Parts: sequence; structure tokens; C-alpha cells
Amino acid sequence: MGTPSERTPLADRVEELLAGGGPLPIVAAGEPVLRRRAEPFDGQLEPALLARFVEALRVTMHAAPGVGLAAPQVGVGLRIAVIEDPATVPDEVRVARGRVPQPFRVLVNPSYEPVGAARAAFFEGCLSVPGWQAVVARPETVRLTGLDEHGRPLDEVFTGWPARIVQHETDHLDGTLYLDRAELRSLASGRAMAERWTQPTPAEAAAELGFDLP
Ligand code: ZN
Repeated sequence: MGTPSERTPLADRVEELLAGGGPLPIVAAGEPVLRRRAEPFDGQLEPALLARFVEALRVTMHAAPGVGLAAPQVGVGLRIAVIEDPATVPDEVRVARGRVPQPFRVLVNPSYEPVGAARAAFFEGCLSVPGWQAVVARPETVRLTGLDEHGRPLDEVFTGWPARIVQHETDHLDGTLYLDRAELRSLASGRAMAERWTQPTPAEAAAELGFDLP
């Protein structure tokens, strides 16, 4: 564990980021930090600084707005992410996508493995790839292990939309963007999404754009 008298370069970087106050700038695809495997968190930020950083991630996620944010997205290569989804969507969307509310959570050093063979395919987007969405087929249920922000073990099964969120955010920590896993023929601009593809499932988009669903 680091000590305040031996501040790490990452701690300096985070202090610098937090000095600005308010939501942090989100880095976009093309920044190498989004393509590197983030360092496991091992006390590089002392507890008070970690708490301030997590709060800044929460504020930034809300401001974006988004339902998840990984530390590399603000330029910090540590295996830390936050998630939270109020799931304020119409009933038919909630049912089709399994989009149930997900309370605020901090994931430290998370990893996941699929549970069962079922896959679900839906449009998803990323705050680091603004203006676009694409369909990604992912395991419908995953087991997530890791730690919370207090260092307590996390071992939990997620399904539906929350499972999608934890996979997307954990992937960020491995330098993977959702586009790496996407059906590229489904790539759609924000405008096309709003005008054409608001259905609860991507079935119509698959037929019209010519891509397969699981
Ligand atoms: Zn993302």
C-alpha cells in the first residue's frame, strides 16, 4: 500500500485531475490509455484520495449522462469503474432488455465470466465513442468478482442490462472497447438511433441493415 509520503505518479495525476473540480473530461477513442490494460488497484491512491476520485467518477458519469464509467475514460489507468442505472425507460423496453435499476456501485479489480450459454444482443454506446451505437451480443448472465471501494470482496451474479454494464466497464479495464465486440453492420449514428431504432430489440435493425442476431 502507498503512503502519503510516497506519492505515486498515478496519485499525482489524480490530484491534478481533481483540482479542476466538477465533472472530469472524458477521453475519446484514439487515446492510448483506452487501449492499455489498466493496472490493478493496490493502494496507489491513499483512501481519502480514492474516495475523492470515486466521487469524481460518479459526478462525471451523472453529468455525461451515462450508466457506467471506467477510470481509463478519464485518463487514469487503474482497474476502477463505477456503475449506476436508474433505468428510466418504458416498460416494454425494460422487459425486453432486462433493464432493471442498478444502484451506484464501485468495481475495483473486477473480472467476469459467463454463466450459462445464453447471449443477448442490443444496441449499446460508449461515452468514449460519442455519437454512435452498435449492437453487441454478450453473455446474458455473468459472475463478477473483484473488490468494492473499501477492499471488501465482491462475488455476484449479474443478468440482463446490469450484466451488460459490468461487462462493458470491465472490458474498458482490459483496453477493450465495445466496438471490438460489435456487429459492425449495425453501427448507427445518434440520429439514426433516434429516428429509426428505438424499438425494444434490434430485430428490425438486423433485418434492414443486414446483420445476424444470436
Ligand atoms: Zn464505454
